[in-house]
Amino acid sequence: MLEHTKIYFYYLYGDNNCFLCGDSLEDLSHIWLCPEVIRLTQAYLQSTIVTIQEFINNSSSHSITQHEILSLPIWDLSSSDIQVIFIDILRGFISHSLSKLLEQFLSSSQVEALLKDLSN
Ligand SMILES: [Zn+2]
Repeated sequence: MLEHTKIYFYYLYGDNNCFLCGDSLEDLSHIWLCPEVIRLTQAYLQSTIVTIQEFINNSSSHSITQHEILSLPIWDLSSSDIQVIFIDILRGFISHSLSKLLEQFLSSSQVEALLKDLSN
């Protein structure tokens, strides 16, 4: 759709390079392949892991390692039709396996508070 819009409204869009990396022509596939998007997504993933770990370690008598959190199959940045992947978490979806992990350490109101924290 964007590609068609660019063709018909070339005077508006022109041949703008990606505003994040500046290297390539910006098209739909570049949105997911842009090295800067991948870097930012990985940084956000790392920040999410740290947030979960600190919340559990500060809010309960349990402690959890980043390795335990990373053992969930949901952190894969590649596409999948089966798993709720990290990109879906960015969209606000919470996977069953993440909920189950959190429920081992936190009360339901704490899980709710953490998930609300993660979605902000
Ligand atoms: Zn880019």
